[in-house]
Amino acid sequence: MDKSWSENNKEIQKLLMKEATFKEAIQKLLAFREEMFEQITQIVSGYPDEAFAKMPFAGADGYHSKTLAYSIWHIFRIEDIVAHEMIAGDSQILFTNDFHNRIGAPIITTGNELQGNEIAEFSEKLNIKELYLYVKAVKESTDQILGDLTYKDLKQKFGDDVKEKLIRSKCVSENENAFWLIDYWCGKDIKGLIQMPFCRHWIMHIEAMRRIKNKLCKIARKGVDPVAYCGFSCNHCFLSEWCGSCRTKYNVCSFATCAEDRTCPNVKCCKEKNLDGCYECDELEKCNKGFYIPSNDGANAAKAQALYIRKYGKKAFLKVHDRLHEKYDFQKTQEVLGQDYREGLRILEESYME
Ligand code: SF4
Ligand code: SF4
Repeated sequence: MDKSWSENNKEIQKLLMKEATFKEAIQKLLAFREEMFEQITQIVSGYPDEAFAKMPFAGADGYHSKTLAYSIWHIFRIEDIVAHEMIAGDSQILFTNDFHNRIGAPIITTGNELQGNEIAEFSEKLNIKELYLYVKAVKESTDQILGDLTYKDLKQKFGDDVKEKLIRSKCVSENENAFWLIDYWCGKDIKGLIQMPFCRHWIMHIEAMRRIKNKLCKIARKGVDPVAYCGFSCNHCFLSEWCGSCRTKYNVCSFATCAEDRTCPNVKCCKEKNLDGCYECDELEKCNKGFYIPSNDGANAAKAQALYIRKYGKKAFLKVHDRLHEKYDFQKTQEVLGQDYREGLRILEESYME
C-alpha cells in the first residue's frame, strides 16, 4: 500500500477514537478523500474511453485484474449504497438526476458478481464522462454526510430492518461473490464503515487503478518514437508512468489535457506543417506556441533540446539525456538547462562530450 496513504489512513483511524480529536479526524479524512479523488479525475480527464475497458492484468489475483471503469463504478456504488441506504436513510445518488440512464450501466449493483470478461463487457457499456459526474456527486454527498456526523454517531449500529432494506433495494447481487457484503456492512458501526468503504476501500482500488493505468501507458508507448514533438524525451520524463506520450492516444501532458480540443498546440502545429517535430521547424527559435509560451519556465529548455535534435539527431539526444540523468538529480530539464536555449544547447553539447 502507498506508504503515505497508509499512514494517513492509520492517523485518521487513531484520531477517530477520541471525542477530542474527532473533528480533526473528519477534516483529515475529507482532505485525504480529496487527494485520492484527484487521481480519479486525472485518469478520467487524461485517458481515451477505450482505456477504461481494458484489463492489462486479466486473470491476476488482486484488484488490478479489473478495468478502470469497473473500479470507479464499484468504489462509488458501494459508497452510494452505504452512505444513503444505511447512514443517511435517503435516496441513492444513482437514482437522482437520471444518472443510471446517463451512465448506460446495465446493472445497479456493486459489480462484485461480475467475473473475468464480464467485467470488460460491462465496462465497455459505460459512458465514462457521465460515470465521472455520478461519482463526483456521490463523493460530495458522502463528504456532506461525514461532515455532519457527531462523535456519538460513530457507535451507531444497523439492525435487521436495514439488512432487509438493503436486500429489497436489489443493489447487492444475490450472487455468492456479492451477497456477503450486506452482512459485512451490517456487522459494522458507522466508525467501521468510515474505514471501509469510505477510506481504505478507496486506497485499495485507486492503487489498483494506478497499476492498470501505468501498464496501459507502458503498452501504448511500446515501439513508439520516444521523442515528443516539442523536443522532450518520453523515456526520461518524470511523468512517464502517467503518460503514454503525445504520439499515442494516452497523452496526459497538461498542454494537451488543458487545450480546448485536447490536442497540444505543438502537436497540432507539427501535424499541420507535416513535420516530425518542432526540431524540423524553421520558426523554432522564435516560436511562442504551446510548450514554448514565454510564461512557461521550461520553454527554453525544451527549445534547447529541440535544437540539439535538429543538430545531432534523436539517437544522440537520447544518449545525452542518459548522461544528464547520470550526472544530475532532476525532474524538469530547466533545472539543468536553465532559461536560455543557447546556453541549454551548450550544456547538452558539453554533456555529450564528457
Ligand atoms: S508539450 Fe505537447 S509536444 Fe511537448 S510533450 Fe507535451 S504534449 Fe508532447
Ligand atoms: S511553429 Fe512552433 S509549434 Fe509549430 S512546428 Fe514550428 S516550432 Fe513547433
